[in-house]
Parts: sequence; structure tokens; C-alpha cells
Amino acid sequence: MDSIAAPVSRLIDEFVKLPGVGPKTAQRLAYFVLRQPEGEARRLAEAIVQVKERVVLCSVCFNVTEHSPCAICANPARDHAKICVVEEPLDITALERTNVYRGVYHVLHGALNPIEGINPDDIKMAELVERVRRNTIEEIIVATNPNQLGDATAAWIVHQLTPFHVHLTRLARGLPMGGDLEYADDVTLRRALEGRRDVE
Ligand code: ZN
Repeated sequence: MDSIAAPVSRLIDEFVKLPGVGPKTAQRLAYFVLRQPEGEARRLAEAIVQVKERVVLCSVCFNVTEHSPCAICANPARDHAKICVVEEPLDITALERTNVYRGVYHVLHGALNPIEGINPDDIKMAELVERVRRNTIEEIIVATNPNQLGDATAAWIVHQLTPFHVHLTRLARGLPMGGDLEYADDVTLRRALEGRRDVE
């Protein structure tokens, strides 16, 4: 890497940490930024800084938001007795696109993964149980990803919430197995929501 100027090499090192970015792509991105007018590069840098400075987690549902509680939690027209539990904020974006769900959400910020050491304490699980304990909740829709980790997480949620006698449902099958909710198309997601089934 001696042939690469130190600041460029530093930028490559940062890009390579991004998900899905390998060394080749990181180099391409770094040289792309280098070729950009200074104003463009500055806008990119500021957008990165502002996403950390101006975005907080909603105190109710843990969605990312500029103001807490988030727009969904603060909306009186939403059904606050229905909570849809998702792994990531992007899953909310996907579900909102379907225009069929009028309840609120709970973002776990991950799925259980014992192999990587992600335990119930590492995701917003206790916060979910507390929310159910403190509020009158009619239905919990478990919308974790349709893969092994998502299923294990769903089983744990059901185990934790069974004592509360809340109606527990899970998205219908039909979502591509092994996939992520956020990549499911709107029609599939809408069907999965409408066809949600009871968890025994
Ligand atoms: Zn919220």
C-alpha cells in the first residue's frame, strides 16, 4: 500500500469496514470520492456525521428517529394495542410500504445468535416484555426474519410473552425462507401480514 497516499489509504480502510464492501470496492469508492468536487465530499462527510448527531432511538419502540417518540408512536390514529416486533428499523420501512398495518412497532435491533454471543440482553427483549407488562396490548405480531435466527428469536419472544395472555401471531409463511424481511416485495409482505396466524 506504499504507493497509495496515506489519506486515501485511510479512507479505503474505513470503507472496507462497511457491510458488503470488499477491498476492491473500497478502493473504487475511495478514488470516486477523490475525484468528486470538494462540496460533494463535504456533503457526504456531513451526512455521515449528522446521522450520528441528529438521530436517536425512539424511547417507546426503538425505531431510529429525529425526535422521540417517533412519528408512528406519536400518531394517535395508530392502534397502540397492536405491536409488530421486527429485527431492524429497515423492516418497519418495508412493512409501512404495504399500507395495511395500522398498529405500532418494536425494534429488537438484532436477532438471537448464541454462536456470535448475541443473547436476549443484547437486543431490546426486556424492553418488549416491559412494554407488554405496562400497557394494554391486544396483539403481538412477531415479524422476525424468515430464517433460523429469526425463528429462534420468535420462539424466545413467544416463551417470554406467553404468561401475559396476549394474542401472539406470526407472519404467514410465503416469505422467501432464509431471506430478510426488508428485501421482501410489497405484495408478499402484505399477504404475510394479512394471513398472519396464531402462535400455539
Ligand atoms: Zn416509536
